[in-house]
Amino acid sequence: MSVAQFERMLDAVAERPDVHLTFDDGNASDIDVALPRLIERGLTAEFFLLAGLLGDHGRVDQAGVQALMDAGMAIGSHGWLHRDWRRIDDAQAREELDYARRILGELTGYPVSRVAIPFGSYDRRVLRRLRANGVTRVYTSDGGCARSGAWLQARTSLRHDMDDAWISRVLDGDTSVRQRVRRRAVRAAKRLRG
Ligand SMILES: [Zn+2]
Repeated sequence: MSVAQFERMLDAVAERPDVHLTFDDGNASDIDVALPRLIERGLTAEFFLLAGLLGDHGRVDQAGVQALMDAGMAIGSHGWLHRDWRRIDDAQAREELDYARRILGELTGYPVSRVAIPFGSYDRRVLRRLRANGVTRVYTSDGGCARSGAWLQARTSLRHDMDDAWISRVLDGDTSVRQRVRRRAVRAAKRLRG
């Protein structure tokens, strides 16, 4: 999306304490584009970083992590290398779920216990692993609203074609009954699939 679209979205949520902002992937634009605009509006957000890619070209580095923390932003884990968590073996799972959080915890100086699932790809086994690993909150990309205290929280991804109408539709939760029923069914199916 363009910076102008991003700014319109931030302006729209600035007065909405019920909206929670998250950023995935740890792109350098988190620091260069998002951070100053969040600060300008007095907003905070949660940034889900890829521990295995920190400091790579075009990614958030250690100084970036510090800048986020200095601005009161929260740090969470998006895993190690952006693998599909439904398709990893046990060794990779340790890296993605355990080691990534430990490294981020060492960098930030506090336990990192929240995760955002790469590709929003999960099933029963992924959720079981996350629970067993002591993860305290899990963000998906299922779309729609989430209860603020829930362990598993759906998120709505911003789109390159978002305009004011799209933004107010999402913020007002103005979805049809049919869409809500469909979303609930999709989420239930994902939670249960093996
Ligand atoms: Zn991602």
